[in-house]
Amino acid sequence: MRIEYDIKLGFKNVMIRPKRSTLKSRSEVNLERDFSFMHSPLKWNGIPIMAANMDTVGTFKMAQALYRQKLFTTIHKHYSVKDWTDFLKNTPNDLTNYIAVSTGTSPKDAKKLKEVFLACPQLNFICIDVANGYSEYFVAFVNKTREQYPDKVIIAGNVVTGEMVEELLLAGADIIKVGIGPGSVCTTRVKTGVGYPQLSAIIECADAAHGLGGQIISDGGCTTPGDVAKAFGAGADFVMLGGMFSGHEESDGELIERDGKTFKKFYGMSSETAMKKYVGGVAEYRASEGKTVEVPYKGPVENTIQDILGGLRSTCTYVGARRLKELTKRTTFIRVEEQENKVYKE
Ligand code: 5GP
Repeated sequence: MRIEYDIKLGFKNVMIRPKRSTLKSRSEVNLERDFSFMHSPLKWNGIPIMAANMDTVGTFKMAQALYRQKLFTTIHKHYSVKDWTDFLKNTPNDLTNYIAVSTGTSPKDAKKLKEVFLACPQLNFICIDVANGYSEYFVAFVNKTREQYPDKVIIAGNVVTGEMVEELLLAGADIIKVGIGPGSVCTTRVKTGVGYPQLSAIIECADAAHGLGGQIISDGGCTTPGDVAKAFGAGADFVMLGGMFSGHEESDGELIERDGKTFKKFYGMSSETAMKKYVGGVAEYRASEGKTVEVPYKGPVENTIQDILGGLRSTCTYVGARRLKELTKRTTFIRVEEQENKVYKE
C-alpha cells in the first residue's frame, strides 16, 4: 500500500482568477476549434462540447440539434443498423463530422460496429467506451479497431491517469476520454472507492496526451457552465456532458407529470434501469454502478446550449482569451473553499 499526499482537485475546489483583458465584448470570443488527429487524417472544426453516449442523451434528435451549432454527439450504442441508415438518409452530409458511433468491447459489439460501417461508411468517428479503461483486453481492442478502421477518428476511454492515456494513444486511439466516478448518475466511487477528482485528472491527462499529439475529452462532473469553463481551462480539448443535456425535448426517456410539474427520467448506463432494459437485469457477479433519477423537463436543448456557450464566452472575456484555444494558457486556478452564494434559491 502507498499513499500519494499531493491533493487532487475537483471543479468545486477552484475558481478561475480574472485577468486584465483587451476584449471589449463576449461577441469577440471564438469558441470554435480546429483539430487534426494523431492517427486519423481527418480535420475537425467545431465547438468542442459533446453529448454523452447515454441512451437518454446521445440520441439522433440531440445530434441534429447540437450539429446546428457545431457541437458534437456521441450517439449511444443501442440503435440498430436500420436506425442508422434511416437517420443518415435524411441528414446533411457534413453531420457525420459531428457524431460518433459508440461501441463496447464484446465480440457482439465489434460485429455490430462492422455492420454499422458496412451500411454507413461515411461515418467518421468511433467511440470505444468502457467503464474501466485499464484492462489489457481494452488496449488490445483499441489496437484491433485501429487496424480495422485506419482512417477513422477513434475515441477511447475511460481512464484518469497519464500513463494509461499514453498507452491508449500509442495503441491507436486519437482522443482519450477522461473521467472515473465524477458523473451525475454514477455511483462507482460509492460502490468501489475508486476514482480521481476530475480537475486534476484533466490537468494530468491533458499533459500526457498533448505531449504525444493526442487530445482528451473531460467526461463527467460538469453541473454548470462554470464547470465546463474550468474543464477547458484545465486543458480539456473536448468536454462531454450527460446530466446537463438530460431532460430536454431531444433527450429520450419517459415524461413524468406530477403535481403540475414535468420531469424526464435520466439514468446511468450501468444503472439497474439500463441493465434491465438492455441485458435483462444486473448480473449476479456485479453491482449496479449508476443511479436512476427524475430531472425537471428543460424544453429544447437550444436554450441550454445558449446558456453554456454564453457562460464560456464570458469566462474567456474575464481572462482575456480571444479564442477558446487560448483559455488554458490564460487560466490561473485559485483554490477555494466557497462557490456560489446560495442564500436565495432560484
Ligand atoms: P455527467 O455529465 O452526467 O456528470 O456525466 C456523464 C458521464 O457519466 C458519462 O459520459 C459516462 O462517462 C458516465 N456514466 C454514465 N452512466 C454511468 C453509470 O451508470 N455509471 C458510471 N460509473 N458512470 C456513468
